[in-house]
Amino acid sequence: MNDTDMQENIGKVWLAGAGPGDAGLLTVKAAHLIESADVIVYDALISAELLSRIPQDTETIYVGKHSGNHPVPQHEINQILVREAKKGKKVLRLKGGDPLVFGRGGEELETLVSEQIPFEVVPGITSSVAVPAYAGIPVTHRDYTSSFHVITGHARKDGTLSIDFDSLVRLNGTLVFLMSVSSMEKILKGLSDAGMEPDMPASVLERGTTAGQRRVTATVGTLKAESDRAGISTPAIIVVGKVCALADELHWAEDRPLGGRQFLLTRPRQNMSVLAGKLRDLGAQVIEMPAVHTEPIFPNEPLKRALERFERHEGGKWLVFTSPIGVNVFFDTLKEMKMDLRSVLGGTGKVRIGAIGSATADALCGYGLIPDAVPETYSAEELGKNLAEMSEPGEYALIARAERGSEDLIPPLTDKGLFADDIPLYRTVYEVNPLLKEEVMRMLRNGEIDAVTFTSASTVRGFVRAMGENGIDYGSICAVCIGEQTARAATEYGMQIEIADQASMDAMVEKILELFGNKR
Ligand code: SAH
Repeated sequence: MNDTDMQENIGKVWLAGAGPGDAGLLTVKAAHLIESADVIVYDALISAELLSRIPQDTETIYVGKHSGNHPVPQHEINQILVREAKKGKKVLRLKGGDPLVFGRGGEELETLVSEQIPFEVVPGITSSVAVPAYAGIPVTHRDYTSSFHVITGHARKDGTLSIDFDSLVRLNGTLVFLMSVSSMEKILKGLSDAGMEPDMPASVLERGTTAGQRRVTATVGTLKAESDRAGISTPAIIVVGKVCALADELHWAEDRPLGGRQFLLTRPRQNMSVLAGKLRDLGAQVIEMPAVHTEPIFPNEPLKRALERFERHEGGKWLVFTSPIGVNVFFDTLKEMKMDLRSVLGGTGKVRIGAIGSATADALCGYGLIPDAVPETYSAEELGKNLAEMSEPGEYALIARAERGSEDLIPPLTDKGLFADDIPLYRTVYEVNPLLKEEVMRMLRNGEIDAVTFTSASTVRGFVRAMGENGIDYGSICAVCIGEQTARAATEYGMQIEIADQASMDAMVEKILELFGNKR
């Protein structure tokens, strides 16, 4: 390998901020990098909501603290970045907040420069401004302060702080202390000793911008006691200044319809974003952890033969779908087989279309097919009964659905004398996200997740498989389910069941609002 080859093989490092916690505060650039990086090096401040955005096949290296353990030393992190870039990789170094605000990002860049590794910096939204904003505290305000100052409260090895309190007090601006929970007492005392009024408003803001955000507002004289009473712990920032008093009036984040709520979504990735987006718009924090994914069965000879039978059948006939994915895979498969819909539907005999619920019906409408039968309640048995009622004996039903679909669909049809041709189009494969598993288990145990949503029985089984049969107390989980069949699967594990009134994402959102919505 000559020098030019070497050069070409060198990767690049993006030092990027991930924002303070709310995944919506990720920059567009950072979001794109999360999708496209070869390897992501991240630490403890990266929330589960953000981790859930990392594609499953992206390599990740965790360099933060494990409970009780020490974090990976900085020089080792520097070396990891160098090592990965030298392998020719696109390396994303993801840090909480902004990477150059108390993130030791500068040291990482110096190492990259000395090793001649190309890099870019992607600024992030820093907690020092965003966390107050989510608490209703503007860091500046014309009537109260004309500057704000961000200070580290991190103590030196001997426990002392290197803060010039006299200068700070003289500045008369808003003071924002990061990494300050353990040195709170010293900071407040330092300010008082330097002459700050003891009744100056002060706040401590814990886990800002997340569903778990908490605010304690007091004064420089009382904040320590109030904070202890509330049991505030890290990560948190201390804000000192008159603007803190505005929070009582300007608070907003927790007042959103689903503010302060966190949900775990288990649907397959291709369907995830609609429900997640709706819940986020209402102020919820949403962790997406697909418990299953689908794999189309291709080539699909049985489908080909069934379609030929369908075309030839002379009496009435039904094309039946039980999921939006089934609809999409059906049309993808037709495309792969170069089959024309007109030949499938254009044979002799009247063709009707059945759909299990409104989402499936919607998917069909997208292909120009308006279903003739959609049962009122979303269940395989109801669909079977519905179709049977509308049919004469001798009709043909081609059921295009998942492998091992519900058995309840078939008996009503065969009892009526229909010929039910059950053709698997795709299979459901259970999925575990190793990045999220431990964190999600911890959150479930701590009651940090208000509800888990399930949109099929397979998502319930996939979720239990991912968490382990005895991994968590399933009885403590509130399961918001899309239909009876899904609810039955969740009941098997003792979960507390809530069922959406209809089989649609809007109905799921409605149910969640009814259960968890702030009625403010
Ligand atoms: N680079 C980061 C700061 C890293 S230092 C930034 O720009 O935000 C870590 C400190 O940031 C924590 O000790 C805490 O004081 C603060 N912090 C980060 N995220 C926070 C959050 N969501 N809520 C409260 N404080 C946070």
